[in-house]
Amino acid sequence: MSFDKVLSQSHVVRYFQGTISKGRLAHAYVFCGPDGVGKALFARELAKALLCEKVDESDGNSTGNKDACDVCKSCRTADKGENPNLSWITPAYKVIPISSIQELDRLAALKPVESRRRVFVIEEAEKMSVEAANCLLKTLEEPPPGVVILLTTTSLLRLPRTIVSRCQVLRFHPLEPDVLKRLITKNFDVANDVDGLEWLTRASCGSMGRAATLINEEAVSRRRKLFDRLSSLHPEDNFLISQEVLDWCPHDKDEGLEVRRSQLRVWMCLMLEYYRDALLCKVGAGDIGLFNSDAQDNISTKARRLSVGTIMNIMDEIEYSLEGLQRNANINLLVENMFTRIARLEAIT
Ligand SMILES: [Zn+2]
Repeated sequence: MSFDKVLSQSHVVRYFQGTISKGRLAHAYVFCGPDGVGKALFARELAKALLCEKVDESDGNSTGNKDACDVCKSCRTADKGENPNLSWITPAYKVIPISSIQELDRLAALKPVESRRRVFVIEEAEKMSVEAANCLLKTLEEPPPGVVILLTTTSLLRLPRTIVSRCQVLRFHPLEPDVLKRLITKNFDVANDVDGLEWLTRASCGSMGRAATLINEEAVSRRRKLFDRLSSLHPEDNFLISQEVLDWCPHDKDEGLEVRRSQLRVWMCLMLEYYRDALLCKVGAGDIGLFNSDAQDNISTKARRLSVGTIMNIMDEIEYSLEGLQRNANINLLVENMFTRIARLEAIT
């Protein structure tokens, strides 16, 4: 069964199985949730089910099959990316241009090929240009019959409200720890490192995308380095530390700033977890399980030096910078300011 490939999102699978049985499919959906939790995978499996020749949509109380069969011609061509009724749009050089949506428009007006419908998936829909979004809006206002459009995004705020209001929104949750652990073990060579696997599962916060960033050897040694730097912050070192962290988030010429931002988010979240652990040590709750239990000595020394109020202010500072990152602030300035303010807060404790 195709939907079985979708892990940790059983609420969405159940929703669609019910919707398909009742024949109440909407013409557009937005799948919203963090990176690496299976939004695109689900879109593919749903598209297959909506196009599968064996799926029974006959009547409301039918107990027939609601899932893609994986063997009919439609399913097989969909798996190969060759199904003429399934079109997949992804950003090219960080933007979805108007030409991609105009092509969607053109195909949507045509009769499906030996099928009851056409399905369009727009991945990372927040990357549509303004013109592309306006063009899509027109299609959403008067959708041709038999057309289903699936959009994926990490943030509803980054999509025009006019588009969101014309779609059904389904939220995707972070992966459950057991599921994530199984996926990490299956995809990366970590089965022999029990402590490493535990840490990676916690630090990935339910996202395979984040796990992939953290998995390499370099990331492990950089995390140690970051914690060493945090253990003795001096206001005069801020520029160097900022540069070091920024160097760990290279600017990818093809992928653009988005990849850099998401890598930086990982390091900033690790800092937040470091200070959260320090707060637990400070209030005598360190034994309930630190996020970074392998760095306990470093963290308890830090906790002894700072007051509860200072640690909380520093955590606010990091949260504030994470929000800035989401709002597309200047990355270099944001990181430098964050370290400067943290060092100042620590100095006056
Ligand atoms: Zn099929």
